[in-house]
Amino acid sequence: MIMRIGFIGLGNMGAPMAVNLAKAGHEVFGLDAAGATAEGVKQVQSINEAVTDMDCVITMLPNGQIVRDVCNEALEHMSSSSVLIDCSTIDIESARAVHAACASKNVLSVDAPVSGGVGGAQAGSLTFMAGGSQNAFDMAKPLLDIMGGKIVHCGEGGAGQAAKICNNMILGISMIGVCEAFALGEKLSLDPQKLFDVVSTSSGSCWSVNTYCPEPGVGPQSPADNDYKPGFAAELMLKDLLLSQSAAELVNADTPMGARAAGFYQKFVDANGRGRDFSAALEHFKSATRGDFDA
Ligand code: NAD
Repeated sequence: MIMRIGFIGLGNMGAPMAVNLAKAGHEVFGLDAAGATAEGVKQVQSINEAVTDMDCVITMLPNGQIVRDVCNEALEHMSSSSVLIDCSTIDIESARAVHAACASKNVLSVDAPVSGGVGGAQAGSLTFMAGGSQNAFDMAKPLLDIMGGKIVHCGEGGAGQAAKICNNMILGISMIGVCEAFALGEKLSLDPQKLFDVVSTSSGSCWSVNTYCPEPGVGPQSPADNDYKPGFAAELMLKDLLLSQSAAELVNADTPMGARAAGFYQKFVDANGRGRDFSAALEHFKSATRGDFDA
């Protein structure tokens, strides 16, 4: 069935996702505050135009406040037979507020943040972590299948965002651990290739070593082999770690390593990490000396 889809936020991620929906034969109407466009997507100029008479509205926006504002305006024009899918990474409270606003207008809603980056968005191979009722998920699923390779229904509204920030909290912590170990290995005169050969097949193995090794020239191709051009920018990792910490505060969860990782990436971004891949943290540890971080 060909669907009419309003797509709001045609940035690095949103544009290729919208292109894939259009390529699959859907009629896609795109709106972006900066005037961004996407191939095969009809550009519209207002939220009203982007959401009126649509079967589905998808948002891919920078933060929770923007998503709340856009969705509140969208809900003034959306029909109750449509579904709203927010794919942005945002705070749990905003995600829950958007679900509640949708419910008050009888509009089905799904929070469906993604993992896989711009490459995954272009290839249509994103992982979607979805939260919402079974009905809402069933309506969203055929569209998520076009944009993604793996779709997990994590639970009720907000569960997708919860899974996303838990995953990325693990990633932030593990990348720092891997960078610390490779910097320590170098200072112990260990060949980084030998360290990789051992760790990638031992109990220290993890995505940050095996798939995305921060050491240039070691392991599969990664941003380390391209002067740490993102990839996944350090400031986006910082954003997700800060979201994990506000979620932890919300439910009184103790996350000391997550808090340390957020503190590290804050310092790293403020120093010289902005615009660089988050694995460039390795350079910091190679030049740092003992106690530097706490100084
Ligand atoms: P981006 O900054 O490239 O795109 C956001 C777009 O939203 C911009 O084009 C901006 O003009 C538009 N926008 C902002 N306010 C708007 C409004 N009120 N109305 C309409 N358009 C508006 O960001 P991105 O990299 O595409 O990321 C989008 C979301 O996806 C973020 O929440 C991010 O955390 C998440 N995410 C990004 C990546 C990544 O690798 N880039 C990976 C996973 C998740």
